[in-house]
Amino acid sequence: MSQNFLNSILTMTKYSHFTLLALVLTLWLAKVNAQPADRNRLQVLEKKAYQVAVNSDPTKRMVDANKLIPSLIMELRYATRNNFTGKRMYPSLSNNCYLREGVALALKAVSDSLLKKGFHLKIFDAYRPYAVTVRFWNLIRDPRYVANPNLGSEHNRGTAVDLTLVDGHSGKEIDMGTDFDDFSEAAHHSYGGHKAEVLENRKTLKETMEHFGFKSLETEWWHYSRPIPDRYPVLNVSFKALAVLTAKD
Ligand SMILES: [Zn+2]
Repeated sequence: MSQNFLNSILTMTKYSHFTLLALVLTLWLAKVNAQPADRNRLQVLEKKAYQVAVNSDPTKRMVDANKLIPSLIMELRYATRNNFTGKRMYPSLSNNCYLREGVALALKAVSDSLLKKGFHLKIFDAYRPYAVTVRFWNLIRDPRYVANPNLGSEHNRGTAVDLTLVDGHSGKEIDMGTDFDDFSEAAHHSYGGHKAEVLENRKTLKETMEHFGFKSLETEWWHYSRPIPDRYPVLNVSFKALAVLTAKD
């Protein structure tokens, strides 16, 4: 075997190693880039991106449901410390029920229907900025109680509302068996241990909400969402920004 030939073989082997290394590296990078996070990456719209989306499709806009339904009674629990975290999660004066327009219109139909039966709606929560969902997660980190930020929640999309009924005459909350954000079985729709009156009250709310296209959640009698086939993206637009954006409505 000539020295030249031996050198050629050695060069080729070295070269092949490099080629192989480059190939492995390329494949590894392709794999990293195609991780599930890519497929599931949550789209979160900040104010500017939200405005662009709404300009091209005005049906996606957020509205102040209080203007549409003046009889709504507001008690945003996360603007107080009277919630399961014991901390104030929204600015203290937050008092608006922001929802996507279609959801707010459906809620108006619910309200009109229940007003005829002598009930007002009390809102515990509606649209929730995504940054608050992240704060919830950092505090609790339990998907049974708070939405995983990798998925976002229907509240972040402006399509969910937490609410109860109030007697139009006395102004008192109707007995639903538990408080808002009670995470025990007693808050479940299927829980049979309540007195007949409580079950009837829950049924009144549930049947009316469902009649107007809202979906209930088995574990929370107060939570309703109105899903649409093409889900709205998660928003991280502050209440302050929404107040300005909806001021002219
Ligand atoms: Zn809810």
